[in-house]
Amino acid sequence: MREMEKNNEMSLARIVGIGLRGKCPFCGQSSIFKGYLTLRSHCPSCGSSLESADPGDGPAVFIIMFLGFVIVGGVLLVEMAYQPPMWLHLVIWLPLTIILSLVVLRPLKGLIIALQFFNKASEGKRDE
Ligand SMILES: [Zn+2]
Repeated sequence: MREMEKNNEMSLARIVGIGLRGKCPFCGQSSIFKGYLTLRSHCPSCGSSLESADPGDGPAVFIIMFLGFVIVGGVLLVEMAYQPPMWLHLVIWLPLTIILSLVVLRPLKGLIIALQFFNKASEGKRDE
């Protein structure tokens, strides 16, 4: 039992690494992206279908929550410490928000897709 838990942890750690690098969740070799965020239909290395990969709004929601916490916290700390003019807040925080969103979006999308395949997540279906 202990050995099985260790293997699952290693597999989860491996799939998280593969996902963050945007690699195929089946082989970990090729990129799942053919553009910045556009997904390939199949992995060029192992041929696995990636058509069922659907992170939906997941990456955007996590970025809004995480970056919202970081950026708003930063704005509040800077405001309390230095009281800079509003234009300086805009010059600092607006580009930082856009840049961080773009930097984090692709790895997060890869991670969510990898975790979907790892957990065999799929759309809910009714038994009829
Ligand atoms: Zn592959």
